[in-house]
Amino acid sequence: MEGLMKGKRGLVMGVANDHSIAWGIAKKLSEHGAELAFTYQGEAFGRRVKPLADQAGAKLVVPCDVEDSASVAATFDTLKQEWGGLDFVVHAIGFSDKNELKGLYADTSRENFVRTMVISCYSFTEIARHAAGLMTDGGAMVTLTYAGSVRVMPNYNVMGVAKAGLEASVRYLANDYGPRGIRVNGISAGPVRTLAGAGISDARYMYSYQQRNSPLRRTVNIDEVGGSALYLLSDLSSGVTGEIHYVDSGYHIVSMPTLDELKH
Ligand code: NAD
Repeated sequence: MEGLMKGKRGLVMGVANDHSIAWGIAKKLSEHGAELAFTYQGEAFGRRVKPLADQAGAKLVVPCDVEDSASVAATFDTLKQEWGGLDFVVHAIGFSDKNELKGLYADTSRENFVRTMVISCYSFTEIARHAAGLMTDGGAMVTLTYAGSVRVMPNYNVMGVAKAGLEASVRYLANDYGPRGIRVNGISAGPVRTLAGAGISDARYMYSYQQRNSPLRRTVNIDEVGGSALYLLSDLSSGVTGEIHYVDSGYHIVSMPTLDELKH
């Protein structure tokens, strides 16, 4: 198990701090022998990401803003120069205006709809295209999604629509790149307290509700999401592609609150 990722090189996109889901994934990959590169969005995040990258033994730490195609292209040019090839990529990026992560979905503005889609959905397709160009010997990609894509969650609004598009992208990309031995999967994580998570109105009520009402009666942590990503990015899952894998203490299987919740 220890050397599961030995000899594999991959890019982790979406670490903002040590609470980020991407950091939980990076730690697991690094523990299992992967060589990592990181991106960060702007210098303020860079100051937090660089010491974490050091901790993971990463030498390549590059800025990348997915709203800018040139910035995405430059990231992969750097990887090509430094590494020549790539084995895996982690996409853990999402954004929407927090003023629209409350109230009615119907009130979403055109401007924020487009921006949310570009950052939270299209970026994965653009990144996958560049990454696949460097995956000459097969590879694996993972993105992060949330169950608000398939069911209505209060206040998740346009992010739910973007995640639905992201999950469909996983299936189309898996089909595009499957013939080249490149696998593409998504992890649908339960609520985790992160910077992005805090942007959703009433997030802490959703968090404690899922704690009380999921089959495991708790929420998940970033190490657990990391473990599932390790599986999806390693050869352990060599027969799996186009899948959305839930890491949510089983919350997605329940249809109503627990009896304890209903009786109180
Ligand atoms: P986070 O705030 O730690 O990470 C979000 C990341 O997105 C940050 O690193 C940020 O820099 C990056 N980002 C935003 N806009 C960007 C841009 N224009 N260019 C480049 N990077 C950009 O929060 P997180 O919860 O770890 O989020 C990671 C992923 O997990 C997101 O896709 C999120 O939707 C998803 N997710 C989160 C939860 C949760 O409850 N926290 C649950 C399920 C899925």
